[in-house]
Amino acid sequence: MENSTRIKFPARWSEPLDPDMDARAVDGLLKVAPFTAMNPESFSESMPLSGILKNDSRLQQLEKGDIIVREGDYGGSAFLIVSGEALVSTRSLPPEVLGRGNKERKGWGRAIAQLWRNSNQTEARDYSKTKTPNQDTGTGLRDHSSGTHVFLHDIPRVIPPEHSITLGEGEIFGEISALTRSARSATVVANSKMVVLEIRWQGFRELMLRNEAMGQHIEKRYRENSLQAHLRETEIFRDLPDDVIRKLADRTIFQTFGNYQWSHKFKSTLKKDISQRILNEPLIAEQGDYVDGLVLIRNGFARLSRKHGEGHQTIAYLGKGDTFGFREVVHNWATGQQRPWMLSLRSLGFVDVLKIPVTVLEELVLPQLRESSFPAPLPDLAGDGKARNRRLTPRAKSMEPGLMEFLVENRFINGTQAMMIDLDRCTRCDDCVRACASTHDNNPRFVRHGPVHDHWMIANACMHCLDPVCMIGCPTGAIGRDRETGNVAINDTTCIGCSTCANNCPYHNIQMVQVNDNRGNPIRDSETSLPVIKATKCDLCLEQPFGPACQRACPHDALVRIDISSPDDVMEWTEK
Ligand code: SF4
Ligand code: SF4
Repeated sequence: MENSTRIKFPARWSEPLDPDMDARAVDGLLKVAPFTAMNPESFSESMPLSGILKNDSRLQQLEKGDIIVREGDYGGSAFLIVSGEALVSTRSLPPEVLGRGNKERKGWGRAIAQLWRNSNQTEARDYSKTKTPNQDTGTGLRDHSSGTHVFLHDIPRVIPPEHSITLGEGEIFGEISALTRSARSATVVANSKMVVLEIRWQGFRELMLRNEAMGQHIEKRYRENSLQAHLRETEIFRDLPDDVIRKLADRTIFQTFGNYQWSHKFKSTLKKDISQRILNEPLIAEQGDYVDGLVLIRNGFARLSRKHGEGHQTIAYLGKGDTFGFREVVHNWATGQQRPWMLSLRSLGFVDVLKIPVTVLEELVLPQLRESSFPAPLPDLAGDGKARNRRLTPRAKSMEPGLMEFLVENRFINGTQAMMIDLDRCTRCDDCVRACASTHDNNPRFVRHGPVHDHWMIANACMHCLDPVCMIGCPTGAIGRDRETGNVAINDTTCIGCSTCANNCPYHNIQMVQVNDNRGNPIRDSETSLPVIKATKCDLCLEQPFGPACQRACPHDALVRIDISSPDDVMEWTEK
């Protein structure tokens, strides 16, 4: 008998959203709309309605003023109001009200003065003058069984009635960002004692699929509110008249591939052989298969690969806003031939795509396209002089294949401000680390180490990702995007040191540190007396007037903060 270790393969519901959700609570929910109108028979045996409610949902008891979702947050859940009333703010609220940082850039004088005012203690903090959430900002922190919530003391002062919409029992909110992995578009606050059912997106999608009325309602809202604008942003459709865009939106298919919480799986995937990894990636389109539509990537990343011997060779990676399949679609339409997909497209982590069927393109789009918008011809038709639209061809075709594989395999393609170091130029002088320390109270916010390919290192510094999975689940919203720059920053005041962000970051770029006073003594929680822990990471020198100190300090031009999601930027730097 083989003497190997055996483990139980994890199932869809191995980790329920709320392990305390019991049969009684589920029975109660089944008596509430919209679940009363759902036919349990229409759900599959492996995923019954009661199972979805038990495993993919949790009940939250909220007090008046609790912020339920914040504009700009990332989250994977939709919410159903079981009882009570909520307010949606129709205008953006100041970051400090939402528990976020509101760092102003320092002037030159203050930035320079900081160099000699830095504390000589590690991770020193002075909270004496800090506005905690319940001073001046009109907000505070409140603990519930579902976690810590930021709440508003005085709702009408922060959200005046003329800038709010009221939601009542049975209404749903937060579903679009949950389904499309995009930031929340508005802040929603409890306007009374409330019971809210949070449903994570996997379960929510299942409910939409099984309940026609609910699915139609949500889909209609999305097609009307967001999809038309999204299609209009796509180069191929930019010049189409409004009525055609409306018809296209009606016939667009939504698809998702891969794992929403990809960061956890990614760490274990790295240990596998590359060919094995590729084969495990969910297929969006397979080389050699029949061309059935145009794919638009709405969120996430996908690997473009070609069969090579027994395995696959990565050709490029595609991200948000990129399209796949247009060349084949146009070729087949223009020539009457039926060429299959020339390449395969696979999900890297989690990808959210829109698919427009060939028949729809042939009817609504292709006859209206100007010749100048045509993509490059397929390889065996080259030379007819029509290859003008280079943006519709894979962009990374000339990147050194080993470098591209390195960036894809490690998912550095997620980084918009990754720290890339040319080890041929770097003399290991650590001027970059010292510059970082002097702009952050003597506490450097990165480590000059990290994975290396050839002479290129991606250092362990926050990359300010396109898909900042670190932001998922922060209970106080302390980690969030800076509204102006889009950089990912942590508000030290509202961080409760729970480590959710550090555990979610797939690149190990967040450190949890114990904070001290200026004499080096640990700062302790006033109630528990335990040392206070905070999350820290590179903030791209958010407060400095002149940008990231690390890059400016490098005397050998060896370090750059670079947008790896743009292959053109990478090629420009690595080939100079
Ligand atoms: S902390 Fe990690 S996941 Fe978050 S933006 Fe930085 S590198 Fe990306
Ligand atoms: S440790 Fe991270 S997730 Fe937790 S409160 Fe602080 S910033 Fe948010």
